[in-house]
Amino acid sequence: MTADTDLYQEVVIEHKRSPRNFGTLPAPTHQARGHNPSCGDDLSVQLELDGDTIRDIRFHGSGCAISMASASMMTEAIRGRSVATARELQQHFRAVLTGQEEAEGAPIGKLVSLAAVRRYPSRIKCGLLGWHALMHALNDDAAPAEEGVVTTKDAT
Ligand code: ZN
Repeated sequence: MTADTDLYQEVVIEHKRSPRNFGTLPAPTHQARGHNPSCGDDLSVQLELDGDTIRDIRFHGSGCAISMASASMMTEAIRGRSVATARELQQHFRAVLTGQEEAEGAPIGKLVSLAAVRRYPSRIKCGLLGWHALMHALNDDAAPAEEGVVTTKDAT
């Protein structure tokens, strides 16, 4: 796998073109919205948790190819998995994007196709936006009537 080459790898383009799990859930148990003012990305993540399992997940909104592809791949990676697994994956993915962990051998599956983002500091927030929203959603116990807005600050 060529982890560290082009920013817009085939799989990134493909996820941007047809994002997975895009839309809204009829009855989300958790949700949060992420906004990245430096790029204009604005994505919301909705979860349906069943105990400790992420039974379903959707995201919606608009964003650049990197933010959309990252969120799309995120939903694929954690749908049906445990909350603990999702948090673990988020930590590894963030560490790879911020250069704290080598992409080679990192347990992040196909998300490694976004590893080149680490070379473009202004785009790291794009790559992490959906994950920020996910973490924010997981930390909310109940879905509020109004979606919480989380704005990305530092990439770390
Ligand atoms: Zn962006």
